[in-house]
Amino acid sequence: MSRPHGILFDLDGVIYNGETPIEGSAEVIAWVRRERIPYLLVTNTTSQPRQTLVNKLQSMGIAASTNEIWTPAVAANLWLSERGVSPAALFVPPETAAEFQDVVISDEGAKAVVVGDLGSSWDFATLNRAFRLLHADTETQLVALGMTRYWMSPTGPSLDVAPFVVALVHATGRRAVVLGKPSREFFDAAALKLGLPAADLLMIGDDIRADVGGAQGAGLRGAIVKTGKFRPEDLEQGVQPDAVLNSVADFPDWWLTVARSDESNTYENNP
Ligand SMILES: [Mg+2]
Repeated sequence: MSRPHGILFDLDGVIYNGETPIEGSAEVIAWVRRERIPYLLVTNTTSQPRQTLVNKLQSMGIAASTNEIWTPAVAANLWLSERGVSPAALFVPPETAAEFQDVVISDEGAKAVVVGDLGSSWDFATLNRAFRLLHADTETQLVALGMTRYWMSPTGPSLDVAPFVVALVHATGRRAVVLGKPSREFFDAAALKLGLPAADLLMIGDDIRADVGGAQGAGLRGAIVKTGKFRPEDLEQGVQPDAVLNSVADFPDWWLTVARSDESNTYENNP
């Protein structure tokens, strides 16, 4: 395998487990920065603004800037602005709305309906408003910030984004553009952000389907780490990772080994 030119690091399960950093992850990010390897820190989280994630990483000794955090909202902002899909009607919490800096926000003449995790702010009138915007114009795009079905809130399991998106899909017969793992558009937009072809990127994740399978489906390579949610039987699910690492801490060695084999291949091909 030739060496990739950019890296997407999944956050939860790769860099940290919840509130606990994974051993060696701070050193790996410091190494990647020193080596000037282009990278993004990727998460499907829609509930935390990027600055909150940056603060969390910094508390773990990991230097990061908001510009390096890749979330569904950030991807959607780029996806919409790149295509000139404007204005957009947002169905997201205020913290998430702040990420849409390159898009005109308006219900009036909306060319996109963006659905995120509104949580307890959902009610019939709100969901019906989204429906009416889509119904009014068949060209209006339905954009989903991930397709997470539910999450564990402090009071118990709670509906996330997907059930509301599915309701709108069902009512309109429209396809949803999903910006979140494992959707192709999410990885395509990350490649656009890094300015690299998808084939030059490696996604490192702990979820064999969403991270590795999703990345491979979009033309990236995918490495699995044996941390976070990883279970040994994940390797028998029909997704073949391009690399298997005990943890993200093994990444620099893997990278250097691939680099060396690149060089020897070049030598063999051009004696
Ligand atoms: Mg993960």
